[in-house]
Amino acid sequence: MDYNKIGNLIMAERKAKKLTQAKLAEQLFVSEKTISKWENGNGLPDTNLLPKLCEILDISLNELLCGERNTGESDSDNKQQLLLNMAKELEDKNKLIWKCMWIIMAVSVISLLGGLYLISVFVTEGVWQLVMILVLGVVFLVPCFFALKLEVSVGAYRCKKCGSEIVPTYTQALNAMHMGTTRYLKCPHCNKRTWCKKVLYKDDEK
Ligand SMILES: [Zn+2]
Repeated sequence: MDYNKIGNLIMAERKAKKLTQAKLAEQLFVSEKTISKWENGNGLPDTNLLPKLCEILDISLNELLCGERNTGESDSDNKQQLLLNMAKELEDKNKLIWKCMWIIMAVSVISLLGGLYLISVFVTEGVWQLVMILVLGVVFLVPCFFALKLEVSVGAYRCKKCGSEIVPTYTQALNAMHMGTTRYLKCPHCNKRTWCKKVLYKDDEK
């Protein structure tokens, strides 16, 4: 703890409150010399005096012990930093979900192709082969829907016409034609249907 800094703060705040050393001493039931001692950095107020001193000077205990006022500026800086951290976390989470989606799709497509190959090789042509291919197709749809759900849950799509971001509902995305992750969507801003590119983060592809 920096006694000098604390002392300077006490003096500055006392003067800001237009209090003399004598007046402050009176309110704290200490001698004028004690106040002078604190302000010169030759000692700290007793712990039991701290709450009262803070109250009189209208500063927080933390500010008193740090020897400086928390300016609104650094406070809003902290909040800014907090928001940035949260945005970063969300971005990381989105990246992870995005990666998962691609892995799910890759694994399903490989399984589908592998399954089709096995059926064509090991099952003799006929009704059973057809049934198995159909079942495989239906099973393949499950990870597709799941992947679409993941895809819709992160980021947005950018309207080609006006550049605004579109966050479609699951049904809208399901019904929209797509090429890769570019979807044919109707923009609620300009009401035009365009091939909207997927954007993961706010600043992407601007
Ligand atoms: Zn638009």
